[in-house]
Amino acid sequence: MIKPQKVALITGITGQDGAYLADLLLAKNYIVHGIKRRSSLFNTDRIDHLYQDPHDDDQRFILHYGDLSDSTNLIRIIQQVQPDEIYNLGAMSHVKVSFDTPEYTANADGIGTLRLLEAIRILGLTKKTKIYQASTSELYGLVQAVPQSESTPFYPRSPYAVAKMYAYWITVNYREAYGIFACNGILFNHESPLRGETFVTRKITRAAAKIALGLQNKLFLGNLDAQRDWGHAKDYVEAMYLILQQDTPEDFVIATGVTTRVREFVRLAFAELGIIVKFEGEGADEKGVVTECNNPDYQLEPGTEVVAVDPKYFRPTEVDLLIGDPTKSQTKLGWKPKYDLQGLVSEMVAADLELFRREKVLKDSGYLIRNQFE
Ligand code: NDP
Ligand code: GDP
Repeated sequence: MIKPQKVALITGITGQDGAYLADLLLAKNYIVHGIKRRSSLFNTDRIDHLYQDPHDDDQRFILHYGDLSDSTNLIRIIQQVQPDEIYNLGAMSHVKVSFDTPEYTANADGIGTLRLLEAIRILGLTKKTKIYQASTSELYGLVQAVPQSESTPFYPRSPYAVAKMYAYWITVNYREAYGIFACNGILFNHESPLRGETFVTRKITRAAAKIALGLQNKLFLGNLDAQRDWGHAKDYVEAMYLILQQDTPEDFVIATGVTTRVREFVRLAFAELGIIVKFEGEGADEKGVVTECNNPDYQLEPGTEVVAVDPKYFRPTEVDLLIGDPTKSQTKLGWKPKYDLQGLVSEMVAADLELFRREKVLKDSGYLIRNQFE
């Protein structure tokens, strides 16, 4: 007997994780619906390869305009789509920006989750529709204990994390109160060539590539001491899927169990290009200086200062150390990441190098004029 096709609805489909998850679910023969926001410029770069002509009879990838701040829109889409699984990945996802837009962040990241859960309830889908909530290691915030597991207390340290804490608990509450198959994935930082350009890893790999190619002089960063447990987004969307395939709804930490300082990520990224960087000085005076350039394609003299600290990137309250304990996801989900940090850095640097090689051709021939507000 042929299994009926499952239907998934992804919020945040235009984001890093949305793009990888859509790839994964389509490969598993799902019908994938996604909610995208209206924007004044195209915002579908990450999923353009999935486009299907809406006139095709067997269209399996369908986008809807919508927003997590609009209940009526969400109810209408869910009613129309009747999803078996909802993956709530939509969010204002940048910690630093959440200090500038705290109310909007609470609305989209906190109440947005409530709106989806209420839509499931109002539409009588509590027995049919499972929901995955994109929770975050930022919930742990001020270090209480390490490594952080499902039972480590939360102490959020940003408007983003506080909004996500509401979303975490309302997901648990709707599971307990109404029997909805609702789960939190507490995902530690995960990156990829599709990562937003202002998150620290992508900012570093882009800058390393541009500096090597002579398109940028220096990389300005904030707190170089912060420690993060970085994995690859491709591995992490696999865990999201597995969480919704279990017999009972539960919450899971998804992490590699390895933590690395921002400073070390910088070294690894430059080293990928044959550029050896040493850090000297302290605090806001710390600098990253080239000691060796082993690639004849790049003209970087020893002594060139390529990294500096700009306190404008410091956060009012910081999360110093994240390191996850993935024991539960390894044993219950059978989940194990395929990428290690070195593999992640290599892939990101290679992708950004290719991107900026192309940009350099356009720039050198006078076809590219761009201002960047990063
Ligand atoms: P991105 O920032 O790449 O993507 C966020 C997505 O949410 C984008 O599609 C964005 O749309 C959409 N979005 C933003 N605001 C709204 C809104 N009001 N209504 C509807 N959609 C909205 O994030 P990631 O893919 O990296 O992360 C996915 C989720 O996982 C997020 O919820 C994030 O907070 C969470 N998370 C991420 C971690 C990570 O390390 N990546 C770690 C733990 C949790 P647009 O493209 O138009 O901006
Ligand atoms: P976050 O863990 O979700 O906040 O992910 P980010 O990639 O934005 O930041 C990871 C860590 O890098 C945080 O501790 C930041 O303070 C630190 N960091 C240092 N310099 C920068 C920077 O220039 N940009 C960003 N985004 N983070 C930085």
